[in-house]
Amino acid sequence: MKNRKLLMIPGPIEFEPEVLRAMGVQTPSHVAPNFIEVFGNCLDMMKKIWLSPSGQPFIVSGSGTLAMDMAAANLVELGDNALVISSGYFGDRFKDILDRYGANTTILSANIGEEVALDIIEQELKNRKYKLLTITHVDTSTGVLIDPEPIAALAKKYNVISVLDGVCSVAGEEIQQDKWGIDIVLTASQKAIGVPPGLALLVVSQKAIGIWKNRKTPVSNYYADWQNWLPIMKAYQERRPSYFGTPPVNLIIALEKSLSLILEEGIHNRINRHKKLASVFREAIQAIGLTILPKTETVAANTLTAIYYPEKIKSIDLLREMNNNDIIIAGGLHPQIKASYFRIGHMGSISENDMISTLSALERVFYKLNYKFELGKSLKVFERACIE
Ligand SMILES: *Cc1c(COP(=O)(O)O)cnc(C)c1O
Repeated sequence: MKNRKLLMIPGPIEFEPEVLRAMGVQTPSHVAPNFIEVFGNCLDMMKKIWLSPSGQPFIVSGSGTLAMDMAAANLVELGDNALVISSGYFGDRFKDILDRYGANTTILSANIGEEVALDIIEQELKNRKYKLLTITHVDTSTGVLIDPEPIAALAKKYNVISVLDGVCSVAGEEIQQDKWGIDIVLTASQKAIGVPPGLALLVVSQKAIGIWKNRKTPVSNYYADWQNWLPIMKAYQERRPSYFGTPPVNLIIALEKSLSLILEEGIHNRINRHKKLASVFREAIQAIGLTILPKTETVAANTLTAIYYPEKIKSIDLLREMNNNDIIIAGGLHPQIKASYFRIGHMGSISENDMISTLSALERVFYKLNYKFELGKSLKVFERACIE
């Protein structure tokens, strides 16, 4: 027994051994020339992965929620109108954050498993002058994927800043920040970026930086204020030493490794690999009679799949039995239906073999829990689709 479990949750994910090894180096000074080079490389590589040659990257110690907080803190002033396009738990969180900074927030919530229709968004933008809108690219609570391109185009048309919560999508779903005109694309290290938790990553358009510079009131969050971080990012980009708050040196060394691996694979190839694995996985899951939460294929994410339990199977039983079979999966998160579905993450270095192990364990566990179907069916469908 190797006593090794496979972590199939939507973040943290399984990390590449090289990335983990990179973390283990003796910690250098944050102003050591070799570390300045590493930090600068990370910022340069982010612009390539986000497809935003004109954007301003930020790497700050914190989780994805800090990245959301940073966007809100720097752009919102008391009384600004903000529009949240929500497809689940993380859209709702963005409303809470925006409200905290004094925004007047309107939320357009999709039905569970669906997206908000474009004409509803446009109607809302016509009705009221908004300063910014937020989109959750993949809402990790529902596995629903939203196409940000047409929404960003609407934001441009009505002169609204667009913010994309890409925590569960950057490096796993297609994003062309500059081409699509998205002002902020933010993520965290532990999801498709493939680095242990602890880094908030953002790329910000020059337009959004300009709006922040022209604020009438100071940013009401000291740690998140770009006033403190922009000079630091610029210094590292120009390979100069600087200090505001000590960066998580080892995590950034690991980030350089992971971003290099992503660019080596090629961002386009990587997205296609995610797309293929996810669609074949959905096909396999449905072949044994299970229902996925996204209502259509177009809104089904490539980074995770949310699946309803078959009748009579309880969440704790499935998660426990999967764990006994060395596969860790996640329960539900959307408050309204939390107990009726589970989630499987499949991003980063996940392979066909990992998916097969997961499907096989699922089949065995379902069988044990008395949900019956043709044994081996999901594996057959998966394997066949992989060969084609
Ligand atoms: C995970 C996640 C977050 C929150 O990130 P943390 O690192 O847990 O703070 C926000 N939005 C989405 C879409 C996520 O998947």
